[in-house]
Amino acid sequence: MNAQAHQGPAIELKGIGKSFGPVVANKDIDLVVGKGSVHGIIGENGAGKSTLMSILYGFYTADTGEILISGKKAHIPDSKAAIESGIGMVHQHFMLVDTFSVVENIMLGAEGGAMLDKGIDDARKELKRLAEEYDMHVDPDAIVGELPVGLQQRVEILKALYRGADILILDEPTGVLTPAEADHLFRILDVLRNEGKTVLLITHKLREIMHITDTVSVMRRGEMVATRKTAETSMSELAELMVGRSVLLEVEKQPAKPGAPLLKVENLNVKDERGVMRVKNASLEVRAGEILGIAGVSGNGQSELLKAISGIEKAQTGKVTIGTHVIDLTGECDAAAMRDYGMSHVPEDRHKMGLVNAFSEAENSILGYHREPKYSKGLLLDKEFIRKEAMERIEKYDIRPPSTELKAAKFSGGNQQKIVLAREIERDPDVLIIGQPTRGVDIGAIEYIHKRIIEMRDAGKAVLLVSVELDEIRSLSDRIMVMFDGEIMGERGPEASEQELGLLMAGVKNTEAA
Ligand code: ADP
Ligand code: MG
Repeated sequence: MNAQAHQGPAIELKGIGKSFGPVVANKDIDLVVGKGSVHGIIGENGAGKSTLMSILYGFYTADTGEILISGKKAHIPDSKAAIESGIGMVHQHFMLVDTFSVVENIMLGAEGGAMLDKGIDDARKELKRLAEEYDMHVDPDAIVGELPVGLQQRVEILKALYRGADILILDEPTGVLTPAEADHLFRILDVLRNEGKTVLLITHKLREIMHITDTVSVMRRGEMVATRKTAETSMSELAELMVGRSVLLEVEKQPAKPGAPLLKVENLNVKDERGVMRVKNASLEVRAGEILGIAGVSGNGQSELLKAISGIEKAQTGKVTIGTHVIDLTGECDAAAMRDYGMSHVPEDRHKMGLVNAFSEAENSILGYHREPKYSKGLLLDKEFIRKEAMERIEKYDIRPPSTELKAAKFSGGNQQKIVLAREIERDPDVLIIGQPTRGVDIGAIEYIHKRIIEMRDAGKAVLLVSVELDEIRSLSDRIMVMFDGEIMGERGPEASEQELGLLMAGVKNTEAA
């Protein structure tokens, strides 16, 4: 924190209200944001965070209330007015033009339109100055669409600074970033704060809040329920404020009682479509009644490992053994055969592989299993049976809203994940493979999903868990393997420190670190 954090507030919101038809997205919200501070706003999905920020940025007009910027009443009917008031926003989905270069994107919309020839040298100079001042280097001539997400986000931030923003709003900025990119972003936010800029950071990740913010406000169901100095609160207090009840952040579990190996993977090598080796000679074994966790920074071969093991993508070499069935992974992919042998798979990308958004909850609840005899009546699907079974699962897994007819797209991330989990768990597999079980899932549902995974283990299943959330790996796993650049770097027990695992995740073996 710097000295400027104690000056008058940068932003004051008073009694802000906003409804969309019957939905009250923001209700009588008061908020004071100190100048030169990083102010976090947290809340579950649907709490109203993005709506509030969109009002501040002029996307929506509030039904009630007023906004003060640096003590003066502000009228913000559109984003142009927001920019004039010194507010910049980095959106959840970037608003850059993919085919334009960095410097073209930065100029776009500034100074009353795209003056792409005139002033491009000035823009280039200013971009260079900003990059140096904030330690955010990026090639001004790179085509934006060809940059990795972390750099695209940097361009969004630079664009806001170029337009003279003193107040920067970031809406869930790390959802798309790798942990290393997220760390870099936090260093940038730190620099911005030291330069006296004010940052509003929207996230649902408590760790980030604790790490980077000075102050944190909590939203729940459209209301602002609390504001705390970050140094004076804890993750468990914030979690409780978010969901309105206490949450178990630590997973309660007994020691594992591992039995015979149920899943064995040998000498797996996987190439991607560009011919790059993504998995390098990986072997592993998961026994009945244990959870093997695979940790790693996203993009180090975990996705390819999961796809090969579950029969979705072909491997260059390797075989998998499920119980007594040996399957050659270099042959034609056959996810259905894997399922028949007793493997269930909760894919990491539930939107691409786990669910069909346009199908109803009930249809999704039998996806991949619709040929099972119990779902047919003669030549047709037994709709009544399917609906009844789906309803039982909705009750058991507390899927909300409790509708078998609602399309999958209409459920929140947490509830979509519960639909997939229910489908894969309820068929009672021997081997359960789960990728990123709680990505984009709100905190109440995370606790629930973790409990179900432990129950599977305690029922004697072999569970292979892949997650980029190290906390999740550490709290659930009985053994931990770390993947880096396609290789399994080593195996550790659940007592391994975050630092030890972190080094492996960065590709450093213990012998090198010592
Ligand atoms: P958060 O960002 O905290 O996840 P949002 O502000 O996006 O929450 O949403 C708050 C509530 O307002 C949700 O119930 C959401 O469905 C609703 N909502 C948001 N934007 C719109 C809109 N344009 N039309 C209708 N409902 C909306
Ligand atoms: Mg949002």
